[in-house]
Amino acid sequence: MYEGAIQDLIDELGRLPGVGPKSAQRIAFHILSADPADVNRLATALRRVKELVRFCTTCFNVAESEQCRICRDPRRTNEVVCVVEEPKDVAVIERTGEFRGRYHVLGGAINPLEGIGPDNLRIRELMARLGTGEVRELILATDPNTEGEATATYLALMVKPMGIAVTRLASGLPVGGDLEYADEITLGRAFEGRRAV
Ligand SMILES: [Zn+2]
Repeated sequence: MYEGAIQDLIDELGRLPGVGPKSAQRIAFHILSADPADVNRLATALRRVKELVRFCTTCFNVAESEQCRICRDPRRTNEVVCVVEEPKDVAVIERTGEFRGRYHVLGGAINPLEGIGPDNLRIRELMARLGTGEVRELILATDPNTEGEATATYLALMVKPMGIAVTRLASGLPVGGDLEYADEITLGRAFEGRRAV
């Protein structure tokens, strides 16, 4: 549609999740007319995220050192681990202020249609963590959709024989959706009202 750099930018933006062709065009023209200092800050942020951010070696949350901020926090308990699909879910749960334990980020959910099985997720690493005997409760906070439920069921079957309490967030979460679409109050309640599975 356009030529050269502006079309390249529209194409790149259009590849981002949730950005359709119209939005890509709008953002591209916004950047074109923006203050150069603002655009430089954006460019730097894009580069830095790839250079600096890595995954926590314990929980696989995003981190800027060996361990993430949450795993390094000595005030949090090791006795409760909350399993989530993605790092963004950690942020969602942290905003509720209801949870003082640790996390484990699976890196997705079981999805046979897309060829994602247990071996493609960080389940082996989770089992290793649980094997230390320190964890008393595992909270399954995978998304309230088919894949999230399948993953929770799979984990419950694996973990319950280890003598660890396994709980799932209470109902009230938007079914079929993503954890991130739940508001803080609903999610906080779902946390408090979690039930054994
Ligand atoms: Zn961590």
